[in-house]
Amino acid sequence: MTDTCIQDILPLVEMPSQYIGSEVNAVKKDPKTVALSIALAFPDLYAIGTSHFGLQILYHLLNREKTIAAERVYTPDTDMESRLRSTGLPLASLESARPLAQFDIIGFSLLYELNYTNILTILDLAGIPFFAKDRDLSFPLIIAGGPCTCNPEPVADFFDAMVIGDGENVILEMADCWMAWKQGGGNDKGRLLNSWRGIEGVYVPSFFEPAYTAEGFQTLTPRYPDYLQVLRTIIPGLDDAPFPEKPVVPYGRPVHDRLRLEVSRGCTRGCRFCQAGMIYRPVRERSVRTLMQQAENALAATGYDELSLLSLSTGDYGCMPELMTRLIDRCAPEHIAVSLPSFRAGTLTPELMTQIGQIRKTGFTIAPEAGSQRLRNVINKNITREDIVSTVRDAFSLGWQVIKLYFMIGLPTETDEDLSAMVDLVLDLRKLKLNKTRGMKGHKNQINVSVNTFIPKPHTPFQWAPQLTVEASQKKIHWLKEKLNYPDIQFKWQHPRVGLLEGLWARGDRRLAGLLVAAWRNGCRLDGWSDHFDASKWEKSLEETGIDIDFYTTRARDLSEPLPWDPIHVRVTRPFLISEWEKALQQESTPDCRSGHCQSCGVCDFQTIEPRVFAATEIKGSDTLESPVLPPADAVRYRISYAKTGPARVFGHLELANIMFRAFRRAKIPVEFSSGFHPKPRISFDDPLPVGMESLHETCMVSAKPVFSAREMMDRLNQTLPEGLAVTRWEISPSKKEGVACRSIRYRIQLKTGGFERSRIEAFLASEAFVKSRVNKKGTMALVNYKEHVEHLELDGGDCLVLAIRSGQPLTLRPSEILAAVFDIPDEAIKTARIVKLAPALGE
Ligand code: SF4
Repeated sequence: MTDTCIQDILPLVEMPSQYIGSEVNAVKKDPKTVALSIALAFPDLYAIGTSHFGLQILYHLLNREKTIAAERVYTPDTDMESRLRSTGLPLASLESARPLAQFDIIGFSLLYELNYTNILTILDLAGIPFFAKDRDLSFPLIIAGGPCTCNPEPVADFFDAMVIGDGENVILEMADCWMAWKQGGGNDKGRLLNSWRGIEGVYVPSFFEPAYTAEGFQTLTPRYPDYLQVLRTIIPGLDDAPFPEKPVVPYGRPVHDRLRLEVSRGCTRGCRFCQAGMIYRPVRERSVRTLMQQAENALAATGYDELSLLSLSTGDYGCMPELMTRLIDRCAPEHIAVSLPSFRAGTLTPELMTQIGQIRKTGFTIAPEAGSQRLRNVINKNITREDIVSTVRDAFSLGWQVIKLYFMIGLPTETDEDLSAMVDLVLDLRKLKLNKTRGMKGHKNQINVSVNTFIPKPHTPFQWAPQLTVEASQKKIHWLKEKLNYPDIQFKWQHPRVGLLEGLWARGDRRLAGLLVAAWRNGCRLDGWSDHFDASKWEKSLEETGIDIDFYTTRARDLSEPLPWDPIHVRVTRPFLISEWEKALQQESTPDCRSGHCQSCGVCDFQTIEPRVFAATEIKGSDTLESPVLPPADAVRYRISYAKTGPARVFGHLELANIMFRAFRRAKIPVEFSSGFHPKPRISFDDPLPVGMESLHETCMVSAKPVFSAREMMDRLNQTLPEGLAVTRWEISPSKKEGVACRSIRYRIQLKTGGFERSRIEAFLASEAFVKSRVNKKGTMALVNYKEHVEHLELDGGDCLVLAIRSGQPLTLRPSEILAAVFDIPDEAIKTARIVKLAPALGE
């Protein structure tokens, strides 16, 4: 047993706020009051996992139920993993800090094949055996969902059950089954799995027995005659589907730090390489009315100052101009940015062009995928060169400065001419850019070209195609890099070895489970991150386990060959995929079915499942939400005092500013903005407090319209601040003349590792001067007389030290520096010390 707790480790790891679980809208329930506890596990870092919309939906849906508590856990970064191992602490959930092994169910979201080793990291840190067959009922049930489950086989042995399709459609049914099973004794896992297999979309791997043919192909024999295939579960329409109106607002720097509105699900453009385009069919849009209402509620609940639209193909949304107009009209007065990652040429009305002129421009993305029209026909990317050119021209004209172009190499039938056409296309787009910026100083328009090696994915028409070898991939990338070597073209590519491994896991079978364990034991962690990916560890693991990677990746497959994912029916039929494969070889296109011309892919029954799109004519005037009108009043400058204690001590300065600003928005306190092209809220903070230090007295200045009394503003803000932040005083800011600087700042300090040596305090106080060398942030060394900086130093109540550091000195010393100098305490003990900055005494 260890007496260390997670709080003790936090000061020692990077980005500690990702482990505290006190985010706005996090749901904390007393485990004793619920019947079922589920940990939603994301096998990647917090910064990625908190940006995943699907997990937010499930979290929201499960926590709506009184009897269920859903909590979160993300893969700890490697520094936290080492700390957990060295202290013997088990991995715990964020909300209740409960060890994962104590949950009833752990549900993983599988979005990316190179995250698979992270599943094992989470299970191992939780003390849970990897393989389902090794887990008795003393362990949680381990389930998974997400797009990767459409070929569940490489990781099937680790899971008790896996969901194929829209998880929100079945998760509550699975929960009900679990609760009924538990009430019936809950002592036979087989009975639970049997009831789960009756739910559409639930795959129970242990109910399919693998065997291997002489050629090495996996076949699966079903154990039950009524459970031969698992049909993907589909939400028929999005308008009444659950939406996380109170999404958790992450700390730190998540990859998507904004509100996201899911405008549609499914894309039927029919790109033949695209798995998402097959496994999320048919297209289902949300109405403008619903989206506006969801935006209103979620903005109020989060305080976000940016909103973006989410879908596989945002530009195809049927009412895009109308939606953008309404969103911008609603958001602009409150300085909420609406970002648009892409749009389709031909959808721009003059009104929308004016609206887009006002929005914040980040990178604009367009994915030609292939350089030549011939190859675009093969892959059914039904856009012409003219479409691409005019879209990029429009984007430059509307003010985007960075255009991102996505291409693939190694697509079926690709020739050298196709690669040359890619170079020609990029260089032509570059000419557009040069024409646009000619004679304009300071314009930094840039083209980012991103090239990935094509990875054949299950359930696509290209699922039988071979993948490029690493060598062939490297050669093509090298050639492209040379041809596109211009200062204003940034060329990026995916490491071919990463692509090959992704391909291995995408089309793998159950024999890969041993490889995953070997790779994890050999130290593979966070493989999706280039700074962690280590090809040599994977090569060693492949060698150890005797897995022939070419068998799974670079080999062409026969159409008659059994496929590991045969029991999974995503509803797109095999004849459709074969016909699309044959059409690809003939360069024949298949049109989008959203316009009403069904291409017979097999997904829709046209009773409950069919494409759902909205026409602009269906929008009524009442769909427009008005922004609140504020009474005219001059802004007042306030001084706000607040405490930053407990979990809030780990917030960095920028993080804190972000948290406070969003809290002002949630509290509906109308903060004033600066003028100019990029208006900023008029909030300023005192000197940053070091991460890990608590304070009973911090101040910030804010200019806001006095629509509420000072008392009410303080109360409103306090109601919405995360745990550990509390406003203690709200007053009209005194003028500079009236402000009185404190003579010193007092701290109360306690060491985690023991007490302070009284003799050192006495020696320090008795000395005339206490001179030691000090190295500043720039690495410069200088002698400092610490006596000049310390006004007061005494032990208070045994182990507690009270320290007062003089302010107004040319050099500002931190308490940690005084501790190191006077007590010679090691760095780690200082980092874990509890240091609280005290409020100024009366009269100071
Ligand atoms: S069944 Fe027809 S309408 Fe439905 S997604 Fe397939 S092609 Fe489109």
